[in-house]
Amino acid sequence: MKNLAHETAVLDKTLVYAKNYIEGLSHSRVSASATLDQLRARFLLDLPEAGTDPCEVIEQLVRDASDGILGSAGGRFFAYVIGGALPASVAADWLTSVWDQNAAMHASSPAEAVIEEVCGTWLKEVLHLPASASFALTTGSQMAHVVALAAARHALLARLGWDVEKCGLRGAPEVRILTSDQYHGSLERALRILGLGRDALVRLQSDERGQLPVDLLQATLDGRPDVLSVVVLQAGDLNTGVFDNYKDLIELAHSRRAWVHIDGAFGLWTAASDAHRHLVDGIERADSWVADGHKWLNVPYDCGYVFVADRDAHFASVSHKESYLARVDTARDPIDWNAEWSRRGRSVATYAALKQLGRKGVADLIDRTCSFAGQLVDQIGALEGGEVVWRSEINQGLVRFLDARPDAGSADHDTRTDAVISAVTASGEAFFGGTTWRGQRCMRISVCNWRTTSDDVERTVAAVARAIASCRG
Ligand SMILES: *Cc1c(COP(=O)(O)O)cnc(C)c1O
Repeated sequence: MKNLAHETAVLDKTLVYAKNYIEGLSHSRVSASATLDQLRARFLLDLPEAGTDPCEVIEQLVRDASDGILGSAGGRFFAYVIGGALPASVAADWLTSVWDQNAAMHASSPAEAVIEEVCGTWLKEVLHLPASASFALTTGSQMAHVVALAAARHALLARLGWDVEKCGLRGAPEVRILTSDQYHGSLERALRILGLGRDALVRLQSDERGQLPVDLLQATLDGRPDVLSVVVLQAGDLNTGVFDNYKDLIELAHSRRAWVHIDGAFGLWTAASDAHRHLVDGIERADSWVADGHKWLNVPYDCGYVFVADRDAHFASVSHKESYLARVDTARDPIDWNAEWSRRGRSVATYAALKQLGRKGVADLIDRTCSFAGQLVDQIGALEGGEVVWRSEINQGLVRFLDARPDAGSADHDTRTDAVISAVTASGEAFFGGTTWRGQRCMRISVCNWRTTSDDVERTVAAVARAIASCRG
């Protein structure tokens, strides 16, 4: 009984802390104030010989970590592409820990295996992907790429009679990966892990609008018609939120027998909205897709999704049983669809998020965050010295800040842009990241959090205005 009392006491304590944390998000600092040295001084201690009471562990943890936690769960965090976490998904994530299932198999987590099945069905519906596609829940888009490209590798090489699961890649026919020069770095890492290698990557120059030109892809495919090819298209460029011309590119790639993979980490979510779906028109004809749950859907880390049109290739490449054909009429074991053995039941948080929002709620989340991003780009760009570099149709945008001195050059504008970003972050009122885009330093604006309101937008614009004033001259 004593142990049970201990256990519930620490959960009660954590609940109180969590409530205070969430209530404090609107007025507490968005940036961390603790330095690396301070954090190390608090945490890098000798492992204690004796144990510590659970309540005390949590008390000390909160005390030592709090000023080193970014306010990315709140509504004024616009750096990287980072979502918040919906209330039902946070609670479901807690339950996932309490239940502590090994979600590898139906046998080890009966309910969670079925919850994962319904997540697959709902996600395909919301993202307007083929109902027949296979799927997996991964740690994020990074590992979703690994799974999808393992399936691609299998399918392409099998065509030439090469069993890559058995023989590996030594002496295998060449596989190359064609993509625009704007690709996300996670793609390259997936190629390294899969043994396809960085050299397999062919970077094609995107045009002025940031899109992959159809004629360039055609010339590249036709330049080496006998080589197996994967074409990777992005749904939503990281900086600009640009989308490719999927209809034409996919039709072309398929006519040359290439596998088409979509990096839709955040941009694929536009398919969930009637107002934005046109941006991904034709994308459903690709062969594999990845999207993140922990970004725009607002489930806690870590959670990504992969979908594969050729379910047999998917199963053959990562299944635990390594049999060629997917079994039917039995339970779906998650272990057969991703590259993990023991694993967290991450479907539970996704299920809760989708259920909390409903189809309409997902669409509203997408539309609302896109609209706030547009407002931020326009209003920050209109501030003194501000310049809109890229205003997208979705939740991403770029602005920069010009140095007003008459002889100022591009290096001065870069310096000023970085100074304004740092000043905003230091104020603790909002958080932005910087990026170098087409040779210029820019402030990146990404709105992914369900919590962001018009009040947050207003407060953020005011904070940027103050930052501009503070680093004048
Ligand atoms: C974030 C991101 C990734 C990597 O996804 P993780 O979930 O961080 O693994 C890949 N591609 C794009 C376009 C992204 O924005």
